[in-house]
Amino acid sequence: MSEIFHIGLGNNDDALRKKADADFVSFWDEQAKNLSWFSPWEKTLDWRPPFAKWFVGGTINASYNTLDIHQAAKSDKSAILWEGENGESRNLTYGQMFTQVQKFANVLKSLGVKKGDRVTIYLPMVPELPIAMLACARIGAAHTVIFSGFSATSIKDRVADSNSKVIITADGGYRRGKIVPLKDVIDEAISELDFVEHVIVLERTKNKISMSSKDQLWTELIDSASSSCPAEELPSDHPLYILYTSGTTGKPKGVLHGTGGYLTHLYSTFKWAFDIKDSDVFFCTADIGWVTGHSYVVYAPFLHGATQVMYEGAPDFPEPSRMWEILQKYNVTIFYTTPTALRMFMKFGDDIPNSFDLSQLRLLGTVGEPINPEVWKWYFKTIGKEKCPIIDTWWQTETGGMLISSLPGLETIPLKPGSGTLPIPGVNITVVDENGGDVPANTKGYLVIKNPWPGMLLTLWGDDEKYKTVYWSKYENCYYPGDYALKDDDDYIWLLGRADDVLKVAGHRIGTAELESCMVSHPSIAESAACGIPDEVKGEVIIAFVVLKQGISNDTSILEKELSNKIRTDIGAIATPKQIYFVSKLPKTRSGKIMRRLLKAIGNNEKIGDVSTLEDGAAVTEVQQVFDELQKSIKENSR
Ligand code: ATP
Ligand code: MG
Repeated sequence: MSEIFHIGLGNNDDALRKKADADFVSFWDEQAKNLSWFSPWEKTLDWRPPFAKWFVGGTINASYNTLDIHQAAKSDKSAILWEGENGESRNLTYGQMFTQVQKFANVLKSLGVKKGDRVTIYLPMVPELPIAMLACARIGAAHTVIFSGFSATSIKDRVADSNSKVIITADGGYRRGKIVPLKDVIDEAISELDFVEHVIVLERTKNKISMSSKDQLWTELIDSASSSCPAEELPSDHPLYILYTSGTTGKPKGVLHGTGGYLTHLYSTFKWAFDIKDSDVFFCTADIGWVTGHSYVVYAPFLHGATQVMYEGAPDFPEPSRMWEILQKYNVTIFYTTPTALRMFMKFGDDIPNSFDLSQLRLLGTVGEPINPEVWKWYFKTIGKEKCPIIDTWWQTETGGMLISSLPGLETIPLKPGSGTLPIPGVNITVVDENGGDVPANTKGYLVIKNPWPGMLLTLWGDDEKYKTVYWSKYENCYYPGDYALKDDDDYIWLLGRADDVLKVAGHRIGTAELESCMVSHPSIAESAACGIPDEVKGEVIIAFVVLKQGISNDTSILEKELSNKIRTDIGAIATPKQIYFVSKLPKTRSGKIMRRLLKAIGNNEKIGDVSTLEDGAAVTEVQQVFDELQKSIKENSR
């Protein structure tokens, strides 16, 4: 039985769900009217499976909806409260953003960027990143933002794939007090890409860089640019951006998003999930290089004219208290982060957050991975002081915005730690078996989406066939996200991990999330990852990797027994791992997700493959070393 928490913000609007259930198309039609359109649409949805066009015939501009519309009432309101890793700060108002975006849009135009072109952006977390994105949107060029931790090879592939003639970068970016030489990385990435015509360089760190004939400084270009650039009137399905997925399960996919549908989805979910008010200070810790940053740092808060904190650096630098210092300093009211970050903060202990004033917080959120109930409860108690609802938002780069989440801005429902709760209104999500049939309550299966939704990707960039195969071929006319899930008696959805990672042991199917959550609920364990490796007798056996909490030095052989017993009691003997390895780090993607495919590769003695999205290459080597050592000792013991 899961625990239930009755906590909300007092909102209860039943009518909205009723409307959505009655007719999802006219429901979204109504939501789209919250945006400013240059001309209205003729058709709400043109659905030619698996391609959806929303608000056909309508014209709109994302930059207009995030900036122009706020000028009359909010030009002096803070849009971005920026905190540099080195302690610098900047406050940019909606008025200042408006001017900067128009100037930069004119810069892009002067370099020959036109409607329909692609522009690659490789910038650190500085205000110029959203400025560059909104400037692209203003003139109808699609941005393709690459996370500023990526290597030259990853950039080269992405620039070539999107055929960007203009690249925007910085001399460097700060990460853990060190300068990451971004411009040097770009120089290497484009050395063989002759079609790249211009590189715009923002001076962030003033480190030494070499400038070629293609390179121009941001400041020099913007100083001479005019501050007036009217927003282009674009068709609703005009490409807004290409963004590559995290690469957790393999090679990243170039997800293409449109404009009108995407913005409608973001406007609505930001209001329902975060209950955004004019007085709020919102803080989403995601890097803009990931979809969470695109949707809930750049577009959604700006659509609502919200004030938000933007932080440049690592969340635990220079001290593990950095995040809480920022929350206190800016009086953050809504905080949105990842389970991985929370597990890290939890590992540091309660004294750190307890020494800050977090009393302004009224709503907390998570995204990116299943959150273990243990971590949820810690977040609720230690950070939210038992007064803030927590939203656990499930979505993907492909979905554009959240699809499963509790919505405290709309309704008050009981919260169950570890469950994303219900699909958002207007979205039909369910759990099915291998053949596409609905599974009974409390039965594991695959998550599917049965109707198109407005934030849905248009396609995979330049590859309609792959788009069809990856998402639409497993079940007819149903979107297949690739996640394993179950619905409980209250129709709450529980995400159980990636479908590819489902552990099949002696005919039983176990989600990685179930097992990991169980291990993390042991008081000494901070993080865990489970995966399956082939076994001649059982078909597959489970192995697990765990990271201990800081300061824990228990005998690992005793801990291993305790963990096995816990799994036996909580899940069943069948789920007991064959081996549990104690490691100091887990291999993660740059967006902080555990890469089980790597653990699996190590377990199977396979090659590790493409590791370009790893946060820290050393972690893989370390896991490999620990594994090798253990294998060796096991072999020796069995002689
Ligand atoms: P790739 O598709 O390249 O393997 P990725 O799936 O990690 O990378 P994203 O689009 O960033 O790329 O992540 C979406 C995935 O993250 C979801 O499919 C799901 O597995 C996981 N996820 C996101 N939010 C949640 C959540 N609240 N609960 C559980 N899982 C989540
Ligand atoms: Mg994915």
